[in-house]
Amino acid sequence: MAEDGTDRFYRIIEEGLCIGCGLCQAVAGEHRIRMTKTDAGDLRPVAFGPLDDALVDRIYDVCPGTRVEGLPACATEDDTKIDNVWGPWRRMVRAWAGDPEIRHEGSTGGVLTALAQYLLRSGRVSFILHAKASVTEPTFGERHLSFTEAEVLEGVGSRYGPTAPLIDINDVLDRAEPFAFIGKPCDIAALRNFSRHDVRVNELVAYWLTPVCGGFMPGDGMSGFLDRSHIAADSITSFRYRGRGCPGPTRIEHGDDVTEMHYLDLWGEDASMWTLPWRCKICPDGIGEAADIAASDTWIGGSPNRIESETDLGTNALVARTVRGQELIEAAARDGALTFEYDVTPDDMSMYQPHQMRKKYAAWSRFQGLAELDRLVPETTGLRLSALAGELTDDMTQYQVDGTKRRVAEGKASEPRPSHGTENS
Ligand SMILES: Cc1cc2nc3c(=O)[nH]c(=O)nc-3n(C[C@H](O)[C@H](O)[C@H](O)COP(=O)(O)OP(=O)(O)OC[C@H]3O[C@@H](n4cnc5c(N)ncnc54)[C@H](O)[C@@H]3O)c2cc1C
Ligand code: SF4
Ligand code: SF4
Repeated sequence: MAEDGTDRFYRIIEEGLCIGCGLCQAVAGEHRIRMTKTDAGDLRPVAFGPLDDALVDRIYDVCPGTRVEGLPACATEDDTKIDNVWGPWRRMVRAWAGDPEIRHEGSTGGVLTALAQYLLRSGRVSFILHAKASVTEPTFGERHLSFTEAEVLEGVGSRYGPTAPLIDINDVLDRAEPFAFIGKPCDIAALRNFSRHDVRVNELVAYWLTPVCGGFMPGDGMSGFLDRSHIAADSITSFRYRGRGCPGPTRIEHGDDVTEMHYLDLWGEDASMWTLPWRCKICPDGIGEAADIAASDTWIGGSPNRIESETDLGTNALVARTVRGQELIEAAARDGALTFEYDVTPDDMSMYQPHQMRKKYAAWSRFQGLAELDRLVPETTGLRLSALAGELTDDMTQYQVDGTKRRVAEGKASEPRPSHGTENS
């Protein structure tokens, strides 16, 4: 029997490709699709009534679970360098926020906050679309609009919980004012996809900024962490993942208590211990290829060191991919919003982010494993995935293909269809 539109829509979620960005709710309207907190503690879209094929085709075209593209050709100049792993770049530089307080508050060195404030202060944009801690679900993020520098600061820090920044993108575009978007690379991919359906995106999104992203914490990861820490989820009133130093303590206010611990107690000692959604494990672009600027940490090996964390003031690596991005960081440095330390190279980035490099090399083979099982495979363009896979030995490729098929067989790449639970915005 042919799959109906609703079943086809839910395949994205059931095959573990949804990251909960919220765009499908905006595309369908909340009377037909609504973001919902699932029993497992994730943020997923739930359909109300049958979904027709035309709508589902449109969702497949914009969803970052099913489509991820690199930097649009119109944003790539002839003299833009393309690194096979790190993608398009014009300048890579170690940097931090010029204001020591912003540097301290920031997730790493506060550069995204400093740039967002600079964009407002210099009149380049009217507001920033980004994320802050959710009021109703303290471990989640929620979409945040900042019109002032103080509002930008409210969103400082990394939100490692479910976050749907695009949930009401139509309303944001209806403002008809230029803005900057800060979102995870997959959120950037989603909005870039949506630009093919709504011309206002390219007219109004003046700057695209992203953190380099190794993945976020799914509901089961968070509940396991809270159990281990003897913290009741329903007693939490505030959850700060990092910041106030680099990485700064994970700080949880719950009941009358405050618990602080190291970032490594939340995530584990290295990338192999991170609990991630399936979509993040096969992510073809955690490095924000479609953004003007990507900002990362600079810990050698990808994880902080407990002793060095006590004195680490925070240093980002900034990857300016476009002329616009390069002009912005250089103007911000000239005007004191950023401090540059020294320029770096793609090899330095791979030293800071070995997990990103490994994932980039493995993505194509992992997609092959999915294809061999007739699973949905994200469509990708401009990410050089097959060229990177071509550098692997046959044994390494087969290892990735087999590993993916084994995880699918074990159910690690599947989710139950979400039911109507707690709506979340
Ligand atoms: C999910 C996630 C995974 C990450 N994985 C890596 C990694 O693999 N390697 C690495 O080097 N660094 C990673 N980071 C951290 C990232 O490097 C830092 O956020 C980045 O260096 C920017 O630091 P900053 O001090 O400039 O940020 P800040 O100045 O603190 O600014 C952060 C900005 O990002 C926005 N933001 C935070 N979380 C979200 C979110 N979930 N959705 C939308 N906007 C958000 C905030 O609103 C704020 O404007 C990750 C961050 C996140 C959120
Ligand atoms: S990734 Fe975004 S657009 Fe795709 S199904 Fe999930 S919430 Fe909807
Ligand atoms: S790893 Fe990829 S899919 Fe996961 S949150 Fe980051 S950018 Fe999105």
